[in-house]
Amino acid sequence: MKINKNYSKLEENYLFTEIALRTKRFCDANPDAPVIKLGIGDVTLPLPEIAADAIITAFEELKHAETFRGYGPELGYHFARKAVTDYYKNYGVQLDDGEVTIGDGIGSDIANITDIFEKSANTVLVPNPVYPLYKATSLMDNQKIVYIECTAENNFLPAPPDFPSDIIYLCSPNNPTGATFNFAQLQAWVDYANSCSAVILYDNAYERFIEESDKPHSIFQIDGAKTCAIEFGSLSKTAGFTCVRSGYTVVPFALKSDGILLNRMWQQRQTTKYNGAPYPQQRGLQAALSPAGITQADRNIAEYKKNSALITNVLNEKKVFYTGGKNSPYIWFRCPNGMSSWDFFDFLLNKVNVVGTPGVGFGSCGENYFRLTTFNTCVATKEAMERIRGIL
Ligand code: PLP
Repeated sequence: MKINKNYSKLEENYLFTEIALRTKRFCDANPDAPVIKLGIGDVTLPLPEIAADAIITAFEELKHAETFRGYGPELGYHFARKAVTDYYKNYGVQLDDGEVTIGDGIGSDIANITDIFEKSANTVLVPNPVYPLYKATSLMDNQKIVYIECTAENNFLPAPPDFPSDIIYLCSPNNPTGATFNFAQLQAWVDYANSCSAVILYDNAYERFIEESDKPHSIFQIDGAKTCAIEFGSLSKTAGFTCVRSGYTVVPFALKSDGILLNRMWQQRQTTKYNGAPYPQQRGLQAALSPAGITQADRNIAEYKKNSALITNVLNEKKVFYTGGKNSPYIWFRCPNGMSSWDFFDFLLNKVNVVGTPGVGFGSCGENYFRLTTFNTCVATKEAMERIRGIL
């Protein structure tokens, strides 16, 4: 047996383990400290009612012989794929149902899509800082990674490089920086990808948080994207599905390499290695993407946005440089007095008992930065920001 030795290149999940360790150590030593966590990237508000009801009804169906179902289609039920193509119409994007597959959240789809690319043969552009999955899967596949620096100079929104590449990871609105491409910036990436026959793997997990009209909700709103992009959409943050698990992947028919359709390859991959997302989840997705579902989900997002305002008001008042917040549930700010990310983590925990996420944990360009999320309650966020105001 020969194992995939590339796994040895993976870093341990150091960031969140270390945060948990330091927080536990502090809480053990200070059991009465009123610790508030603004580091979590998980939602806290309940599912939109219409989605929850659809899931419950789907399980009810499975209780009765007349409505019971077994295996579903590997690529997703037609009703779910159509719910996605209908949703895209809100943004003026026309898709064929055959361009959409339904999965159980995009973490797995983003990882699994790499099956269709030759291992050890591609140059992959990975942003720094980055959502760790893109780097980890590129390492597992022994691809050549070239990091693209995201810094205050480019407002954490890098422009395409002046050399060719094969695979490009983009995430907008971004986790961890919250920075969001506008139409012109994303057009530059699409033009670049088409010019060197690269594919953009576009992580669209936070699209529903976008509120500025100059920011695209889908890469397919950009001219030329259908010949160079694959988009991943998740219900996790949009509709609170982190536990339920549901998402979709769009591989346009126009996306080809040497005449071979990537859509066909992805379908081959899924029908071989995946037996389809659970039926109740797909009913939940259908309900969440319906007009009523969107309205209810947007109510939750509006609640999280109140937290955004609580956080950014303090940063504005203290004239701290930050990105995100407006179109994203993440706020990424520069640590005060040139502090390192981890020194600021310890300082915040010890002085005001607030836990956040050190930016350096997402890559070297995150050093001296810190991430707060808007997913805690308004009461906790308000209290945390009052305390942070006192030390900035
Ligand atoms: N992509 C980004 C940028 C994320 O932040 C997350 C989850 O936090 C995911 C993908 C995973 O999403 P899902 O829950 O759909 O697997």
